[in-house]
Amino acid sequence: MKKITDLQGAFELHNGVKMPYLGLGVYLSKDGNEVINAVKEALNHGYRHIDTAAIYKNEEGVGAGIRESNMDRKDVFLVSKVWNTDQGYDTTLKAFDASLERLGTDYLDLYLIHWPKGEISKETWRALEKLYKEKRVRAIGVSNFLKHHLEDLLTSAEIVPMVNQMEFHPYLVQQDLIEFCNIKGIQYEAWSPLMQGNIFDLDVMKELAAKYNKTIAQIVLRWDLQKGVVTIPKSSKKERIIANSDLFNFEISEEDVKLLDGLDVGKRFGPDPDNFDF
Ligand code: NAD
Repeated sequence: MKKITDLQGAFELHNGVKMPYLGLGVYLSKDGNEVINAVKEALNHGYRHIDTAAIYKNEEGVGAGIRESNMDRKDVFLVSKVWNTDQGYDTTLKAFDASLERLGTDYLDLYLIHWPKGEISKETWRALEKLYKEKRVRAIGVSNFLKHHLEDLLTSAEIVPMVNQMEFHPYLVQQDLIEFCNIKGIQYEAWSPLMQGNIFDLDVMKELAAKYNKTIAQIVLRWDLQKGVVTIPKSSKKERIIANSDLFNFEISEEDVKLLDGLDVGKRFGPDPDNFDF
């Protein structure tokens, strides 16, 4: 089992880069004060990892939040993603430059292909490999790649992706995919770990929260970490940002990890990587 220590703890990627296993998600955090404050609160309270994307249209605010927090840039693990309409070799290189410019930085810690788009994603990947070799990004990866997408990419990839960021929560575990990624050395990462807010309605989560005297969010996020999965809950509220990081003073029993695993019904709250129209 991967070791979990504290809010600054990290899992090691296959190239040796350390990726803090808890990050702040900023999808739907509005550019300007909302995202600036969320990023500042998170960093001030010990988070070291921020997950944005070109399509979130808040990279400028994320960059401002990092600068205003007075953290050293090197102490923040900053992630962005290339959007579908920019896929392809030259377009990805341009999109990367544009993201850096908006973020006000000269490198990323991780750059991801946001969604699999068939053959063109192989060209996108070649661009990511170039950026990685030029040391403009410390790690490269994918998002929303099912096993067959990964297998297809690996037929032409020179570098195995370091990360696969997937929808992941107790209703969508995809244990086979996690195991495939583990075998390939690809770090699994959870998006929508709180089921976009739907997790709070589940009776079994209420029972576990009472049993451990923790919040529902803390239970599910701790489960992510114990499963070796990087997690990036989103909130722009200070209290929730702080509470969502209070995961390091308890442990979920093996039995309860299995109970959560057993809730899997293959239900998605986001788009299906095999069937989306954007
Ligand atoms: P999430 O599962 O993190 O849920 C966010 C919702 O839960 C928000 O409405 C928030 O207000 C609420 N919430 C957060 N903490 C709470 C708490 N302690 N108590 C009560 N409510 C709370 O959903 P998400 O934003 O979809 O996913 C997290 C991050 O994953 C995103 O911000 C983004 O960075 C990333 N993401 C990536 C992809 C992708 O395709 N790669 C897709 C979706 C999201």
